[in-house]
Amino acid sequence: VKPKSVINFSAGPAKLPEAVLAYAQKELLDHEGSGVSVMEMSHRSSEFSKILNNAEKSLRELINVPDNYKILFLQGGGSGQFSAIPLNLLALKSGHSADYIVTGSWSAKAAQEAEKYGTVNYVVPKKKKYTSIEDHSTWKLNPDASYVYYCANETIDGVEFQFVPQTNGVPLVCDMSSNFLSRHIDVTKFGVIFAGAQKNIGCAGVTAVIIREDLIGFAMKVCPVIFDFKIQAGNNSLYNTPPTYSIYIMGLVFNWIQEQGGVDKMEQNAVQKSGLIYDLIDNSEGFYNCPLDRDCRSRMNIPIRIGSEAGDEALEKEFAKESTEKGFLQLKGHRSVGGIRVSLYNAVTVEETRRLVTFMIDFQERHRQ
Ligand code: PLP
Repeated sequence: VKPKSVINFSAGPAKLPEAVLAYAQKELLDHEGSGVSVMEMSHRSSEFSKILNNAEKSLRELINVPDNYKILFLQGGGSGQFSAIPLNLLALKSGHSADYIVTGSWSAKAAQEAEKYGTVNYVVPKKKKYTSIEDHSTWKLNPDASYVYYCANETIDGVEFQFVPQTNGVPLVCDMSSNFLSRHIDVTKFGVIFAGAQKNIGCAGVTAVIIREDLIGFAMKVCPVIFDFKIQAGNNSLYNTPPTYSIYIMGLVFNWIQEQGGVDKMEQNAVQKSGLIYDLIDNSEGFYNCPLDRDCRSRMNIPIRIGSEAGDEALEKEFAKESTEKGFLQLKGHRSVGGIRVSLYNAVTVEETRRLVTFMIDFQERHRQ
């Protein structure tokens, strides 16, 4: 039996703000008196143009995207960009090589994909477990690289950069899928930023891509037309049918973030919410363990082992069972990491996080030896 109220701590697709869902429900059948649902509208209609342009405008305002950056809303997810990035940017320099700072499972996948199209330089040593970020002074950056790539927040491993890497003029590309709009960023430090929507900014189906204009126009011949930044930018993301409903929901989430007080408020909440969980871990006398170095602890996705550093699987199974029964959903860790994982995206409230903390303290009281 489902508990009366549930809190969704999923790593993604993840919780959406209730106000956004309620609004979308209210106008599911009739968007602003048009008589049709957004799902049924032509992507070239004036109504949809308004939705698309408003979403872009809100995003520009939220993180001060300068005029010399294009914003695209594309299909293919974060993984689509793992291919689109090398296909569009490797040819920026004749060496067709790129630097990848691999700090977790998603940047590892991106690097593997880029290897299909050019030379990938692994900036930090490969490792089996991702729990830290090597000191910047040891990175082996190649000054002739076409770009430097990193993932700002590794959703599976919980490694989050608390700083923006310096690249000495080489364009910086960042996967912000799981921490986008949860902290202030200076867009001018980046060549390309991309983020799948299904964690912090909407539902699955759309990926926001922000590209500095001078990096557009270098796609390789083999680049699929739908991933060609020049073609998509030239057509305002309407070269082919875009994910219209996902763009609509994303626009509503942008408005909601603005109403809440913008990215600064999201950042403040993220610090507070993750602080509640990390304080609990640090005060649990080893009952709850987070494998990450403190300086790269994610504010968005917190992997936790229960019972010992390596994790007591029986206890973790019990935690998953009890938490689900109590309505705390999707806390099981990723299969490659084990344990549990608490995801605290923008839509999860401080109050909801407090309720989880209360449950976790109670669980510890009942199960500690
Ligand atoms: N990058 C990050 C940081 C992710 O967390 C994910 C998915 O969870 C991806 C990329 C891949 O996104 P998609 O499943 O949309 O291809």
